[in-house]
Amino acid sequence: MIDIINLLPDNIANQIAAGEVIQRPASAVKELLENAVDADATSIQLHIADAGKTLIQVIDNGKGMSETDARMSFERHATSKIKKIEDLFYIRTMGFRGEALASIAAVAQVELKTRRAEDELGTFIEIDNSIVRKQEACSCAVGTNICMKNLFFNVPARRNFLKSNASEMRHIVDEFIHVALAFPNIFFSLSSNGQQVFYLEAGNYKQRFLQLLGNQYQTKLVPVKETTDYLEINGFVGKPDAAKKTRGDQYFFVNNRFIKSAYLNHAVTSAFDALLPKDSFPLYALYIDLDPSLVDINVHPTKQEIKFEDEKIVYAFVQAAIKHALAQFSISPSLDFSLNAEIMQTEAVTQPFTENRKETLTTSDLYKKFSQKNQAHLIDPTEKNELKHWKEFYTDTNYTAENTNNEHLNFNPTENRRPETGNLQLVTDSTFYQLHQTYIIAHLQNGFLLIHQQHAHERILFERYSNAIQFKQAVTQQTLFPVTLELSPPDAALLHELLPDLQLLGYKIELFGKDSFIIQGTPADVLHGNEKHMIELLIEQFKHFSSELKFSKREKLIHCMARQQAIKAGQTLSDKEMKVLTEELFQCNTPSITPNGNPVFVEFNDEQLLKMFGK
Ligand code: ADP
Ligand code: MG
Repeated sequence: MIDIINLLPDNIANQIAAGEVIQRPASAVKELLENAVDADATSIQLHIADAGKTLIQVIDNGKGMSETDARMSFERHATSKIKKIEDLFYIRTMGFRGEALASIAAVAQVELKTRRAEDELGTFIEIDNSIVRKQEACSCAVGTNICMKNLFFNVPARRNFLKSNASEMRHIVDEFIHVALAFPNIFFSLSSNGQQVFYLEAGNYKQRFLQLLGNQYQTKLVPVKETTDYLEINGFVGKPDAAKKTRGDQYFFVNNRFIKSAYLNHAVTSAFDALLPKDSFPLYALYIDLDPSLVDINVHPTKQEIKFEDEKIVYAFVQAAIKHALAQFSISPSLDFSLNAEIMQTEAVTQPFTENRKETLTTSDLYKKFSQKNQAHLIDPTEKNELKHWKEFYTDTNYTAENTNNEHLNFNPTENRRPETGNLQLVTDSTFYQLHQTYIIAHLQNGFLLIHQQHAHERILFERYSNAIQFKQAVTQQTLFPVTLELSPPDAALLHELLPDLQLLGYKIELFGKDSFIIQGTPADVLHGNEKHMIELLIEQFKHFSSELKFSKREKLIHCMARQQAIKAGQTLSDKEMKVLTEELFQCNTPSITPNGNPVFVEFNDEQLLKMFGK
């Protein structure tokens, strides 16, 4: 028997290794862009031809390489970024495995020009199939200019596996976006077949995001910013109405490295909770920074997957940070800051995760925040509050800023002042009193109710309209003189969408040419005479209500209708009106709160009253 094991020649070994690192043109793009970032470039240009199949060129103005380094850079395991194994724990650079250039040179034809600022002449190297074809001095700009041609020219099997140009280009653009988002302080450009695709001036995170993904997000981003001793999170999430039907623009960066993490994605999504419409995905770009020793980025050759020393703590932190951000911008209830119960019980949260971190950790903000339930975040009530605008649409000025409209929010479940009417005995044949043209005092068998007239009516109408839609029982009254309505194209589109539900509510509105409508009928119980204005107002209200995405379109419409049609505070009511209103309220399923979660009435029972007077 002869021995059968032999050592593979370098070029074959490199080719095999390249399989891990360079799967497609986009992988080479990622590696080359990251090398330029690691070289401290402030300007990075990427040129692509044929979706990277024939050319990928990266030109940077970074620190360049000496002649020897230029040659060395193509050797496998050749890196300037780590020297000893411990260095792995302090990695701040994108690369460190020393494999990329060796892999690229194994599967493509490469030309490199590079020069350091201190050198007069630079170095030119031509290499393919891992063999240096040419090396000479050249004059060139400071920095590195690397061309990678004819990817997989020597591995036809892999070349054949490449997808269509459109598909490969999409991957390239994705990688470009990841790096460009991670380093907004660097100028980036991308051209494809000579056409400019991106030209990104240096800026901040938000500017970069808008440059890449479009200015339409300008008003749709909520900033996220939390700092603790353990980690820091920056970036932004899209408001619920920026959510998409497809999982699209979701970006996590850990120490400026784009990563994929279904786990952290879950943390974000769960923070949105019911705010997100069903089957939609929140938009986000979140930058987590923490001590590099607390993450292992070396679990995957392309480093898109990483391991946290303590995943749960990062999860809890991300989730809390997003909730806080949404609450601060009045997109979600601000008082509900209890963390997911499961997370609260994990050791990561309840205890320091290693003995020697105990000291720093127990005194760290993060620990304190997570160990004091509901104190994670303090909401500044003076914070600019979108809901204020929404309220301005209504004539009732009695609302206060703190009184944000959310069911979970305003009610302290332990406060025993909002009983359902089930056990309340209304004395209907007694007199009703109106106070300040706003409150109704209604007698109970053993006490009285102080009812907010507008809130009560909103509740009544809300349930009435809901039933009308559900049971298709609305009654329409023909308008004597049909009114036409001219709208802007977006408003027209909105109204068009709402038409079926409006019809169920009793409106009869027909399309009448482009962007105009004709109102033929209105719900029988809606005041007549100003149909046009009412619809216009309804559209406005609806638009301003649309950040409240936990409601369906139909629910929102009903909310708006109820608020619009409700008797307002400040309106004098007759005895009969007060009686009818109160009785109707008692017929409601949820009489104690308005559809938006504000209290409708306060109960005073005899017992409490006696106590109040010291009896
Ligand atoms: P790694 O990035 O993991 O160190 P690479 O194979 O990507 O490995 O690069 C090898 C080495 O070549 C790097 O460590 C760096 O010193 C040098 N290098 C690569 N690209 C550049 C560049 N654009 N500018 C300056 N030096 C570079
Ligand atoms: Mg590299």
